[in-house]
Amino acid sequence: MPLQIAVIGAGPSGFYTAASLLRESEECRVDIIEALPTPYGLIRGGVAPDHQSTKGVSRVFAKTAQDRRVGYYGNVVVGRDITLDELRARYDAVVIAAGAPLDRPLGIPGSDAAGVYGSAAFVGWYNGHPDFRDLNPDLNTSAVAVIGNGNVAVDIARVLVKTPAEMADSDLAEHAAAAIHQAPIKDVYIIGRRGPVEAKFTNKELKEMGALKECVPVVDPAQLPTVIDGEMSDHERALREKNLATLRGFADRPAGNEHKRVHFVFCSKPVEVLGGGQVKGLRMVRMRVEAGRAFETGETFEIPCGMVVSAIGYCMPQLAGAPGDETSGVVANDDGRVSDGLYVVGWAKRGPSGVIGTNKKDGRTAARQILQDISESGRTGGQGLRSLLSKRKVVWVSFEHWLQIDAAEEAAAPPGAPRRKFSRIKDMLAVIGKPTAKLLNPAG
Ligand SMILES: Cc1cc2nc3c(=O)[nH]c(=O)nc-3n(C[C@H](O)[C@H](O)[C@H](O)COP(=O)(O)OP(=O)(O)OC[C@H]3O[C@@H](n4cnc5c(N)ncnc54)[C@H](O)[C@@H]3O)c2cc1C
Repeated sequence: MPLQIAVIGAGPSGFYTAASLLRESEECRVDIIEALPTPYGLIRGGVAPDHQSTKGVSRVFAKTAQDRRVGYYGNVVVGRDITLDELRARYDAVVIAAGAPLDRPLGIPGSDAAGVYGSAAFVGWYNGHPDFRDLNPDLNTSAVAVIGNGNVAVDIARVLVKTPAEMADSDLAEHAAAAIHQAPIKDVYIIGRRGPVEAKFTNKELKEMGALKECVPVVDPAQLPTVIDGEMSDHERALREKNLATLRGFADRPAGNEHKRVHFVFCSKPVEVLGGGQVKGLRMVRMRVEAGRAFETGETFEIPCGMVVSAIGYCMPQLAGAPGDETSGVVANDDGRVSDGLYVVGWAKRGPSGVIGTNKKDGRTAARQILQDISESGRTGGQGLRSLLSKRKVVWVSFEHWLQIDAAEEAAAPPGAPRRKFSRIKDMLAVIGKPTAKLLNPAG
């Protein structure tokens, strides 16, 4: 009997795990169970809509999904439609590849005001993620603060300031394009607690900020050090030098005709969202950075803005039956092993770090561990899953169904764009002639 393995989540880590299992064992069956009708996790819902080439890896994942040994069950939420324990009873091994979809809270006074959004919600909204379709952020402001010094912060700033023509070949969700392109946004502040040397932007993404049609990057040259102090590898030093050189280029740039600005504000920590119930600004404290660590100087200043997006990291919701690690916000694990027959990969294992390809190693590790730990199958696998889902009248989406949704999105694409995304589950299900899924209590 082939081993029956369930993978929860059809993002990169889930697909890399499935591919590794198929490579390492002729004899296994892998079922991928995904909350949304659409696969690919953050490749669809996180990666910036104007970075289409990054999304190309999904074509490799589609091949994995179409392997005869793989089953795809989209629109099935583990913890809502079926419990983790029920899956474990039906599969020899279960791999949690559910990512880290929640924003880490900003946790400063005023951060619950209207106009403060987490990046998971905000990025999900402009990428057409159904959970955030109705976020309706109020963009009627001339200034936005984006808190964080990684690529997510740069992505958000760029999407807010690019012109409709610059976004024409993207898959920015239609509702978001309408709102963003009408917004009177002129200034976006990218705020980092530490300095330019410690910032986590990759150079390609940073450089893009200098090549926008109507927007100019603004950097205070006084914030750029002349040398990079501290111990680090040559590789790390070269990466930081590159970013510094790019930022110096921005600082030296003469004023042009661009009427939008993205300001890089380093060594500054937000301590309060101002304005009472509605954002009117951010109070900041100036930081001093020593050996990569930031210390408050006591000096404060304010940035007036009507919207705040915090891009300061992600964590996982509690999944009943999987032990949570409170400090890191992921599933507690020992290099991916959680307990007998239960494994974790990707952001749910490591937290939000690395690029898409970083998840490959997790997939390989989990596949090897599973094949080492379990040699005999005694479970029903997909047959048991389908019978439970049918009994509960859960509407699941097969990979062939997804290909129909995909084709419908591509057929509806505006000129130059790769697709016009559906952002409501009911519209996705309508394409394949399925009724809207019922929200079912797993016990029901
Ligand atoms: C805004 C943003 C932009 C990024 N841009 C880039 C980039 O340009 N280049 C790059 O290389 N990397 C980028 N990354 C990083 C990359 O997306 C991640 O490394 C990768 O997606 C993590 O994969 P994962 O499978 O662990 O999680 P995810 O991609 O989050 O996939 C998890 C999947 O699990 C599903 N799921 C969650 N809970 C359940 C449940 N209870 N039941 C069933 N299914 C569930 C989710 O719907 C999702 O499909 C970006 C990340 C973000 C947040």
